Amino acid sequence: MQLPREVIIGNRIIERVAEVLRRLGFTKSALIVAGSKTYNIAGKTIRELLERDGVRVNTFLVESATIKDVQALEERIKALAPQVIFGVGGGTKIDVAKLSSAHQEVPFISIPTIASHDGIASPLSSVKGFEKPYSVMAQAPLAIIADTNIIMQAPWRHVISGCGDVIAKFTSVEDWRLAREEKGEYYGDYAASLALMSAKLVMRNAELIKSRKEEGLRVLLEALISCGVSMSIAGSSRPCSGSEHLFSHALDLINPNHAMHGERCGVGTIMMACLHKAEWKPIKQTLEVLGAPTNANELNVEKEDVIRALEMSATIRPERYTILSKLNLSYEDCERLAKTTGVI
Ligand SMILES: [Zn+2]
Repeated sequence: MQLPREVIIGNRIIERVAEVLRRLGFTKSALIVAGSKTYNIAGKTIRELLERDGVRVNTFLVESATIKDVQALEERIKALAPQVIFGVGGGTKIDVAKLSSAHQEVPFISIPTIASHDGIASPLSSVKGFEKPYSVMAQAPLAIIADTNIIMQAPWRHVISGCGDVIAKFTSVEDWRLAREEKGEYYGDYAASLALMSAKLVMRNAELIKSRKEEGLRVLLEALISCGVSMSIAGSSRPCSGSEHLFSHALDLINPNHAMHGERCGVGTIMMACLHKAEWKPIKQTLEVLGAPTNANELNVEKEDVIRALEMSATIRPERYTILSKLNLSYEDCERLAKTTGVI
């Protein structure tokens, strides 16, 4: 198990970055990976704080997460040989920094500027250009510094998406249990419980999160980080990514750029919970409370896209056994499911 050593969440916590680095024993050099936007939001501050502390700092700007970006960053790491790498941003920057640093065996520190998915703390990276659209193993962040003041300033939709990605653990854990029962797959009760507890906490605190207070955001950040840790404990994305994620990946392939990852996962969770014969209505109600999408219209896709995505979901990742593998749904079944749950 590879776990984060320092997790710091709080208002203006970014100011403690030099102190954290000192504590971890990195006093000489660092490489900051950011986008041009996230560099201005947080990267620049980190650079100034570290330089004031006598650390040699370089910056690498990245705007997408493809294999090419990962390779380019690896070349930069080889040339600069930094002691530590910072990933500053939301999805792409953290994904690229995490995977490149893992390949080059350099520790990685995660500085999320948004809270839209559990990749901010997970050991996996989602990078485009591989055969499949899902994540690959990279490394767990050595530290996570989540400044609520920075994250609060990002569009609220990111927070809602983050909630969807956490609520998804209701069905991903069910799928994992199913795989244990029916396929004898390894199942880790601790990792599963941690992921499930995160989902329950977000659900219980939906009103608080909705109120847009720092306290609510903290609940979500702790949940996202716990989900990341649960994947580190399991050694795979199993506890956090089941049939609802397969639906999200399929829908993204059918109709790209229509909604955020966590928004699609939330809608997927409603339908997959129904397939598991679990309580799907409270999940839908929670998403409604949060203001998250619960149907095709709100996801900005056609009804037909939802049905086709459901049909395609089981084929996305055949080795991952889920309720979709078990039920082998026909087009008509998919249509009925989407209608029953009010998604179309
Ligand atoms: Zn996810």
